[in-house]
Amino acid sequence: MRRELFTEEHEMFRAQVRRFVENEIVPKIPEWNRVGMSDRESWRKMGAAGFLGPNAPAEYGGGGADFLYDAIVIEEMSRVRAHGLMMGLHSDICLPYLTAFGSEEQKRRYVPGAISGELILAIAMTEPGTGSDLAAVQTTARREGDNYVINGSKIFISNGQIADLVIVVVKTDPKAQPAHRGVSLILVERDSPGFVRGRKLDKLGFPGQDTSELFFEDCRVPATNLLGREGQGFKMLMEKLQQERLVSAVGSLASARRCLDDTIAYTKQRRAFGQPIAMFQNTQFKLAEMETEIEVGQAFVDRCLGAHVRGEEIVSEVSMAKWWVTELLKRVSSQCLQLHGGYGFMREYPVSSDYADAAVQSIYAGTNEIMKVIIARRMGLDERR
Ligand SMILES: Cc1cc2nc3c(=O)[nH]c(=O)nc-3n(C[C@H](O)[C@H](O)[C@H](O)COP(=O)(O)OP(=O)(O)OC[C@H]3O[C@@H](n4cnc5c(N)ncnc54)[C@H](O)[C@@H]3O)c2cc1C
Repeated sequence: MRRELFTEEHEMFRAQVRRFVENEIVPKIPEWNRVGMSDRESWRKMGAAGFLGPNAPAEYGGGGADFLYDAIVIEEMSRVRAHGLMMGLHSDICLPYLTAFGSEEQKRRYVPGAISGELILAIAMTEPGTGSDLAAVQTTARREGDNYVINGSKIFISNGQIADLVIVVVKTDPKAQPAHRGVSLILVERDSPGFVRGRKLDKLGFPGQDTSELFFEDCRVPATNLLGREGQGFKMLMEKLQQERLVSAVGSLASARRCLDDTIAYTKQRRAFGQPIAMFQNTQFKLAEMETEIEVGQAFVDRCLGAHVRGEEIVSEVSMAKWWVTELLKRVSSQCLQLHGGYGFMREYPVSSDYADAAVQSIYAGTNEIMKVIIARRMGLDERR
């Protein structure tokens, strides 16, 4: 079905992104997957083409456009499996913290570089001891004169090696009750003293992503690197998680579509018992079911996108979209692998990486269990009477 969300301008932009991605990004993907991270030149090219932060404010170099433009870039990158260059994380998850909560000085210092691709962003929430329970972070930031001194460690941080600026979730008041009132966000630059990058972690999927450990050992940053106000970190995180979850749903759905399209093509050319395997009723039913679910998912995600662009508060709906679409991606990649037979298990067939990559989608950007906790809470189910 035609997606009614997009104007002619959006479609022209999509064509431009697709051309760029095919020419500039696709040739780089095998190398990213081999070395375990993306390359800076590709980030700069993305920036120069206007594909990092089309939605960011024009006064700092952004496109000043609506979020649908960002969604188009996410979809086109997912379509070609360019998972190593995490532009969605950079442009649509990290950058909004700077544009929404940064001081004028912080915005002038960081936003233009983030949009041009010179300054790559990461966000460090998760720690070895806590992920879902964000208010329980142990990393501390102690005020000392004009500085903050940060101590602690983070794990599973995307863009962990390549990032030039990390938004670090810390406790400025470890004794605060409730605990989330002690959470703050602090910007840590690449060369800050005491900021140490740990291992690039060996993962099941997404080989091109530099998911890493980060350590802060008496890491000293100017007090002006505080984002927003002390104790407001949790509130800022909650406010921005709506878009983070939408980014995850949009990308996962585009990945599911690509996986299915490749599988349809495969089943039409692979023969067994004298006919293409697409002729077996089981194959047809499986493909028809997946086609249906992707269409249904797309209708809901597009509805969320429309509401998000209008500025509506749709925390429940994006949580629904995130869990449902990422589970759909896991089902689709698993069934598509099965339809490839033994070839599906071979790394040279992209369906094998789709299957491995899909596993994390229900874990990061908030686990799917946490999505259901949020939905249930908003249904009023945990109110004691
Ligand atoms: C490839 C990758 C990239 C990542 N990138 C980043 C990043 O850039 N920045 C960052 O900060 N983090 C990142 N993460 C971390 C990710 O966000 C966390 O792994 C995730 O939030 C889950 O936290 P956890 O691993 O500590 O699991 P836990 O919180 O220990 O959860 C374990 C299990 O318990 C369940 N659970 C926990 N609480 C509840 C509850 N209340 N009700 C029901 N079930 C519950 C969870 O759903 C899960 O199934 C990344 C992770 C991966 C794997």
